[in-house]
Amino acid sequence: MPEKIRVKNPIVEMDGDEMTRIIWRLIKEKLILPFLDVDLKYYDLGIKHRDETDDKVTVDAANAIKEYGIGVKCATITPNAARVKEYNLKQQWKSPNGTIRSILDGTVFRKPIIIKNIPPAVRKWQKPIIIGRHAYGDIYKNVEYVVEKPGTAEIVFTPEDGSEKKVIKIHDFKGNGVIMGMHNTEKSIRSFARSCINYALGEKVDLWFGAKDTISKLYHGFFRDVFAEEADKVKDKFAQAGINYRYLLIDDAVAQVIKSEGGMLWACMNYDGDVMSDMVATGFGSLGLMTSVLVSPDGKYEYEAAHGTVMRHYYEHLKGKPTSTNSIASIFAWTGALAKRGELDNTPDVVKFAKTIEDIVVKTVENGIMTKDLMLIAEPPVKKYALTEEFIDAVAEKLKKEI
Ligand code: NAP
Ligand code: MG
Repeated sequence: MPEKIRVKNPIVEMDGDEMTRIIWRLIKEKLILPFLDVDLKYYDLGIKHRDETDDKVTVDAANAIKEYGIGVKCATITPNAARVKEYNLKQQWKSPNGTIRSILDGTVFRKPIIIKNIPPAVRKWQKPIIIGRHAYGDIYKNVEYVVEKPGTAEIVFTPEDGSEKKVIKIHDFKGNGVIMGMHNTEKSIRSFARSCINYALGEKVDLWFGAKDTISKLYHGFFRDVFAEEADKVKDKFAQAGINYRYLLIDDAVAQVIKSEGGMLWACMNYDGDVMSDMVATGFGSLGLMTSVLVSPDGKYEYEAAHGTVMRHYYEHLKGKPTSTNSIASIFAWTGALAKRGELDNTPDVVKFAKTIEDIVVKTVENGIMTKDLMLIAEPPVKKYALTEEFIDAVAEKLKKEI
């Protein structure tokens, strides 16, 4: 065995739940630790340990990412009522991703992995369509009211300085109906725009932003203006990188994305990002091919797979049945974190190692070794699918030969 590659600075590792926890251990034991001398700051975000620590471990992990700059996270259970029962939890803990995101104040970017024999639903898509989703406000922080008698609905703004209230009529109700109030903040929109700009510059891809400012002249117009101002500040950097900023109406953006060959960062308002990221993920083949990175405005990075803990497969596994769970997005979470670590540490051998694993993974699938989710859509068709561990073993074998 040749000497291990040394990773200069630590990486924060966050373990998780169910099937992805099993995959996580396999990746670490077979693809990472045999080849790298790396200081992993380990935090167990598995549901039991979150419960034992009253979720303090999640906060500690987020603070560690702040300290060290790079994190890699396994998928975790976000408890609902059923999970509270299943795991006998003290309470329905909040989503770890939500907790980490609010501590890092970051934006989530989702990028699909492109593989030749896994054709996208849209034939013209050849390059990744990356979605950046604004993760604050709009309907996700709304207030709603069901109207059950005639009356007038108004927006009222009460200034803190005691100056005159602002009252705007929404609607005179003649009968029943429904009302919603929502908001956003300039600070959040601006840091979202900046995160998108930084990501676009880092990946050297065009930045698109779509909204409906023809209808929502003030609310959506506000987003448009903030993006335009921030983009204007970096127009020289964009020109140097050979990339463009483009504002479109959201419906035009949808049409243009479908007609394009991909290769752009599509910045989406919160709801658009929620919906469009699922469409794009499905369009590129499988959730198992979708990677996700949380980028904070001050340049901290947390990498993960976009999918969850693949509970159904885990229950099969517990019954002793073989599983065929796709580990690719989880592997790319590790390689994404390693490549960024290497870039920030200025250690090209670490970046090269990460790219080597990524190339091997893609080639393995292109050679017809893949899990069942991919087998179902591969072109040309393949006859047999690999089990969870078989796929990782195939990658590990090739990695041993190449290092
Ligand atoms: P999921 O884990 O994303 O899986 C949903 C279905 O998608 C699976 O049953 C499977 O379909 C397919 N799938 C997803 N990833 C796959 C992979 N790597 N390989 C093969 N197939 C894959 O969602 P879920 O089962 O609804 O959620 C389970 C738990 O994950 C929940 O407790 C939720 O809170 C959590 N979650 C966590 C995160 C996160 O940590 N980032 C994100 C989402 C959900 P088939 O059953 O058809 O094979
Ligand atoms: Mg969604």
